[in-house]
Amino acid sequence: MARRGPSGDESAPVARFVAVVLIAVAAAAAAELAVHLLEPAEVGPSPLPVTADRWFDSDATAAAKAYRDGQHILYLIGFGVELAALTLLALGRPPAARRLLDRLAPRPVLGAAVAAAGISLLLALLALPTGLIAHERSVDVGLSTQGLGGWLADRGKGAAIAALLAAAGGMILIGLQRRLPRLWWLAGTGVVIAYAFVSTWLAPVVLAPVFNDFEELPPGPARRAVLDLAERSGVEVGHVYVVDASRRSSGVNAYVDGIGSSRRVVLYDNLVDRADGPVLRAVVAHELGHVAHSDLPRGLLFVAMVAPLGMLLVAVAGTALAGRGGSRAGLPSAIPAYALLIAVVAFGLNLAGNQLSRSVEASADRFALGLTGDPRGFVELQQRLVADNRSDPDPSGTLDDLLRTHPTAVQRIGAALAYAEQRGIALGEPAFAPAR
Ligand SMILES: [Zn+2]
Repeated sequence: MARRGPSGDESAPVARFVAVVLIAVAAAAAAELAVHLLEPAEVGPSPLPVTADRWFDSDATAAAKAYRDGQHILYLIGFGVELAALTLLALGRPPAARRLLDRLAPRPVLGAAVAAAGISLLLALLALPTGLIAHERSVDVGLSTQGLGGWLADRGKGAAIAALLAAAGGMILIGLQRRLPRLWWLAGTGVVIAYAFVSTWLAPVVLAPVFNDFEELPPGPARRAVLDLAERSGVEVGHVYVVDASRRSSGVNAYVDGIGSSRRVVLYDNLVDRADGPVLRAVVAHELGHVAHSDLPRGLLFVAMVAPLGMLLVAVAGTALAGRGGSRAGLPSAIPAYALLIAVVAFGLNLAGNQLSRSVEASADRFALGLTGDPRGFVELQQRLVADNRSDPDPSGTLDDLLRTHPTAVQRIGAALAYAEQRGIALGEPAFAPAR
C-alpha cells in the first residue's frame, strides 16, 4: 500500500477530507433511501391531536420528565467519554498505551484480538460511573428492583461478552486488512451483514438466557389471548415465552425476537401478572403485528442496505485517523481509530434506523387496533406502559425525536382515537393510569 509521511503530497489531506465528507453524505442519503423504501405504507386515518394532561397524571408526568432527562444526559456523557477515550488512543496517547499496542505488532491478527478485547474492557470500566448513577436513579424512582451486587454481576457478564465479540471483530478486521488491502471494507460489509443475521437468529437462544430465564407462557388468560388473536389474524406465532424481567425491573414490556427457528414472542412477567384482559390483548396484538409484517427481516434488510457505504466510510476515515496517530491499516495499533469510526458511523446510521423503527411501530399499532377492535384497551396499555416504565408520555426536543424508537405515548393514543372515531366507537371519559 502506498504510504505518505507528513512530508508527502501536501494535497493528500485535503483530498482525503473531501472524500470522507462525500462518502458521509452518500451514506446518509443511502440510509434515508433505505428508510423510505422499507417504511410500511401508512393506511388508515392520521393520529388525532392529544394533550398529555387529559390521559396522564400531570405530577407523574413531571416526575418522569425529570427522570428521563437525567438518564439522557448520563447516556450522552457516557457516549462522550467513550469517544474521547478512543480518540486519545487513536492519536497515540497516552504514550504508554501506544507502546503496549505496538508490542502486539509482531503477531498482528492475534494482537488485534488482544487490543480489541482490552479496549472493550477499558470502555466498560469507563462507563461504570455514569452507569452506576443511572442505575441508582432508576432504583430511586422504583423502576429497578436490582441490588448493586446483581447490577455489577450483569455489567461484568455484559463486559465479558462484549470483549469476546470485540476480540473476534478485531481479528477479522486486521486479518481482512492484511489480505485485502484495498477491498477489505467490502469483505467487512459481508461480515457485518452475516453477523446481523446470525446474531438475530442466535441471540434469543444463546445470549438472552445468560441474563434471564424464559418459560413457555403457561395456560391461563394470557395464553388464551395469544392463541385466540393468533388464530384470528392467521399469524404463525411460534413460541410465546414469559421472561423473568421482575428480577431486575418493575417495568412492563413485550417484544418479538429471533428469525426462522428461533422466532418468538416474549412477554415480561410483570405484564402477565399485572395487566388485565384488554391490555394483554392489545400488547399481544401489537407483537403479532411485528410477526405479520416481518419486521425483524425488515430490520436486517435495512442493515444490508446501509452497511456498504457505512463500512467504506469507516475504512477511509479510519485509515486517515490511524495515519494521523502514526499507525496504519493492518496493525493492532490501528484498532482504536477504526473502533472510533465504527462507533460514530453506527450511531449515525442508528438515527436512521430509529426513524424506520418509529414507522414500523406505528404500523404494528394499526395492526393491533384492527385485530382487537378495542381502542380502549390499547389506550389503557399506553397508560400502563407510561406509568410502570416511568416514561414521559409527551417528550419534546430534537435529541429525543432522534433517539426514540417508538411513537410517543400521546401519538399512540392519538392513533387509537383516530381508529375509534373512524369506526364510531365511543371511548368514554379519559381515565388516568391505574395506581400501582
Ligand atoms: Zn413494537
